[in-house]
Amino acid sequence: MTEITADSVRHEVRAWLQANWNPNLALLEWRNKLIDSGWGAPHWPKPWYGRELPVGMVPIVDEEFERAGAVSVARTGIRTLAAATILAHGTDLHKEKFLRRILTGEDTWCQLFSEPGSGSDLAGAQTRAERRGNKWVVNGQKVWNTSAHKADWGLLLARTNMDLPKHKGLAYFIINMRQPGVQAVPLRQMNGHASFNQVFFTDAEVEPEMLVENDGDGWKIATTTLMHERRGADGLRRQPRGSDRPERIYREEAEEIRIALEPYKWYPQRMGRVDLIVERAKETGRNRTAVAGSPEGARNVSRR
Ligand SMILES: Cc1cc2nc3c(=O)[nH]c(=O)nc-3n(C[C@H](O)[C@H](O)[C@H](O)COP(=O)(O)OP(=O)(O)OC[C@H]3O[C@@H](n4cnc5c(N)ncnc54)[C@H](O)[C@@H]3O)c2cc1C
Repeated sequence: MTEITADSVRHEVRAWLQANWNPNLALLEWRNKLIDSGWGAPHWPKPWYGRELPVGMVPIVDEEFERAGAVSVARTGIRTLAAATILAHGTDLHKEKFLRRILTGEDTWCQLFSEPGSGSDLAGAQTRAERRGNKWVVNGQKVWNTSAHKADWGLLLARTNMDLPKHKGLAYFIINMRQPGVQAVPLRQMNGHASFNQVFFTDAEVEPEMLVENDGDGWKIATTTLMHERRGADGLRRQPRGSDRPERIYREEAEEIRIALEPYKWYPQRMGRVDLIVERAKETGRNRTAVAGSPEGARNVSRR
């Protein structure tokens, strides 16, 4: 067996791109070709669109894509967390149904963990999932759910047993966000932007096969998702830059990035960014308002 080295990987991906990269293809057509080659997610398992390369070699592949100006798979948003969780805990059906469409960018995802009464105390989640006949039926409310109003699928942590200790009574579901009984309501911030949502469930249904692992495993699986969120350990997630080149494929990718990053533009923690404040002050004509040290100025600010 030939040894895999940084040089051999670089050589191989470069040759593949030289033979295959075509900026005149449509984004979806290109990504399907890329996914079939295994270079879209080279650290993923071979049966699931990868090449089983060590995750440390992914940056080498990325460098070659950048050098060639080639578009990669979809990497924005919660979809990468969904992929990492499904790879670790999903059934073949989950992998078959979701992984390719995550990489092509056809499906978008959201994370449905936090609730009004369970943020830091996540295991205290009260959203209920009950088994009724051959379906799970979900009732309750989530909050702070980034991009939920645009999502096709959600990663849902819900309580299935009220009697067990809180960490044990949870299950993890993949829920279809585009069904009656699921309502995502954007949560408007005091800066006028809506980065998050509240999501309300009223008898929303989940097929039994969309339970991930077993009833009672919710906490364990949520921990996987959160671990990937904290560490970016999936090796896929990165801030895509996009390109302003004129070909259709770049325009399609730029639009995908624009939609995915829209909520992040005005995340509350960015309120401290002076560059954004200056821009906003200019837009609203407030850059001429004297503020510092003036009681009148302070009143102007508090009225905004
Ligand atoms: C930018 C951003 C994006 C997010 N996106 C999502 C998302 O997509 N999906 C999702 O489900 N959630 C999301 N969240 C929610 C997030 O992950 C946390 O669950 C949530 O912010 C914490 O809950 P809370 O705001 O209710 O705070 P609380 O839990 O009420 O905590 C408030 C304060 O009390 C402190 N505190 C809490 N409990 C204790 C204790 N026992 N002892 C001492 N101190 C304590 C906390 O440290 C904190 O300072 C997002 C949050 C942010 C900021």
